[in-house]
Amino acid sequence: MSSQDISKDLPKKLTRSSLGSVDGINSNLDDNTPQKLKKPNNNPQTTDSTATTFVSLATGIVNPPIQSNSPDNSFKPAQPSDQKLSLLQQPRSDHPRVSTTGLFSKVSSHLSEYDKDQWGVTPADVTRSASHMKTVTDFEPFSEESPALRFTPHAYHNKARAGTLELPHGKVNTPVFMPVGTQGTIKGICAKQVEKMDVNLILGNTYHLGVRPGTDIVHRKGGLHQFMNWNKNMLSDSGGFQMVSLVSFTEISETGVQFQSPVDGSTLLLTPERSIQYQNELGTDIMMALDDVCSSLITGPRVEEAMERSIRWLDRCISAHKKEKVQNLFAIIQGGLDRDLRIRCLEEMIKRNTPGYAIGGLAGGEDKHSFWNVVDVCTDHLPKNKPRYLMGVGYPIDLLVCVAMGVDMFDCVWPCRTARFGTAIVPEGLLKIQQSQYAEDNRVLCETCPCDVCSVYKYPRSYLHHIASKTPLGCHLMTIHNLGYLKHYMDQMRTSILENRFESFVHDQLMLHFPSKHIPAWVFDSLSANQIDLENPQKSVFIRDETVTCAADVHVKHAKVYQAEIDPNNLGLGGIEQGAVQQPKEKAASHQRMSQTAKDAIKEANKKQREERRQQHIEHAAAHIAKMEALKAQEASAKADEEKKE
Ligand SMILES: [Zn+2]
Repeated sequence: MSSQDISKDLPKKLTRSSLGSVDGINSNLDDNTPQKLKKPNNNPQTTDSTATTFVSLATGIVNPPIQSNSPDNSFKPAQPSDQKLSLLQQPRSDHPRVSTTGLFSKVSSHLSEYDKDQWGVTPADVTRSASHMKTVTDFEPFSEESPALRFTPHAYHNKARAGTLELPHGKVNTPVFMPVGTQGTIKGICAKQVEKMDVNLILGNTYHLGVRPGTDIVHRKGGLHQFMNWNKNMLSDSGGFQMVSLVSFTEISETGVQFQSPVDGSTLLLTPERSIQYQNELGTDIMMALDDVCSSLITGPRVEEAMERSIRWLDRCISAHKKEKVQNLFAIIQGGLDRDLRIRCLEEMIKRNTPGYAIGGLAGGEDKHSFWNVVDVCTDHLPKNKPRYLMGVGYPIDLLVCVAMGVDMFDCVWPCRTARFGTAIVPEGLLKIQQSQYAEDNRVLCETCPCDVCSVYKYPRSYLHHIASKTPLGCHLMTIHNLGYLKHYMDQMRTSILENRFESFVHDQLMLHFPSKHIPAWVFDSLSANQIDLENPQKSVFIRDETVTCAADVHVKHAKVYQAEIDPNNLGLGGIEQGAVQQPKEKAASHQRMSQTAKDAIKEANKKQREERRQQHIEHAAAHIAKMEALKAQEASAKADEEKKE
């Protein structure tokens, strides 16, 4: 059954139990009925005192069209937020129903407008954007320089830090892992369950929401927080990455990213201005600048071009940002695996003084030594008083190493996706629940995990073995575990920094993960470079080993499969069967983006492999012939002996 069949059949099957589970419903759960999901949340206990009331900005104000910025990379200070927009305070429940013109969903019909405007934004677009913005107001601006974000580090171990990130929808403890909600849903789990896990910051994809249902509908429902019934903080991406990784890639120009719509095949254009407009309208607490993303496997002038363009696009994003008082715009550091390019990008972006910074362009299949060196150089240069977000990283060992290097925020689709495929994250590494050894195992997934599946419902491995990846409930329970496990893991890391025992924590985690004490060379090098003594006889003496790998290394091999949500049609519990398979179209597009050197290297490697296989065949055949001839000779000689005897 395809994943779409599963989604389609869900309502009909709610009461029928197959495989020992009522599809999609956890028998131990009483508070996630669809009825309750639809109700607006008026519970004072779950609303945050800092940010509860939404207001709509006055409609009908016409902003001047956004002028194109000069394409040079000279520094321009951020524009002050639009003071002309007066605020209309209204309780959230009385929110007026505003009508907006569709954005992404109707973008193809606006193609003629794009043609008139080289930056892809028309005066009509800007008017539309300004008149439908909603915001939170009942929190005090944190400071003049950074009204919607305050970051306070409390304790350090070398560069590793434990802090508090304050945003319009409440406080977030750092370091933090952000679950990814692709289509206004974290696949397999509802927002209230995620809130219950004490997760205070999630990621929403701009691109997917733009395609479906369309940001106009999200608007009419009061913005993304209200639309998905999520009262805590949210970060949105720029939409650019999905375009490059998901759909038939067309081209990147100074104007923006031009790509083919997965809906109707028409050519669409995402500009920095438009990306910010969408994110302003979604109303997320942190927005990401549109950057020029290129694969971390590419080398040569394209990397520098992408880095320089990302700086110019950041300036255009800053100019287009209309809600500085309630939404934070983060810059994304680019520059591939080149140390000098990264430093140049860092210097330029730090001048722009954005509320926070992301490290982009990694976790795309590069070798792990390059990976940690780039992260290290970025955290060396980034300002200490601002949060640092490493994009696309979620393996436990990666998280440990990068926290040691001073990263505060992470996101990755992998923990949820791998859960749907039946893999649980445990202290020893990964537990593939479908393996036969768990068929009669009565233990829970992880004894020390505080998630509901392990500590409240106490589902045994044998049951999860039976239902995982085959049923919606299996996907649901495994997702609860992986997210709960990572939340607990990050909390433990934070506490260890606060209690000045981070080094011991690292030792303990490595011992669980690598009981032989042989650890991957890149893990050893990165931690040693960040003042974690791995040869401390009082704790444990680890051995640097180039031959040892872990799940994070496997990720390198499969990065192209994992790096993006594969199929935009893959709704709800999708991905059960098809999620891990790279579609031929994407494969071709990703090949198209590779540099000629990379293509040649792949060609050469394939040729070598073919030649090796051919040689092996020849050797096998020769050995077989020799064996047969020896047998024949033996038979002949035996026959001759017999004849002699006769
Ligand atoms: Zn668990």
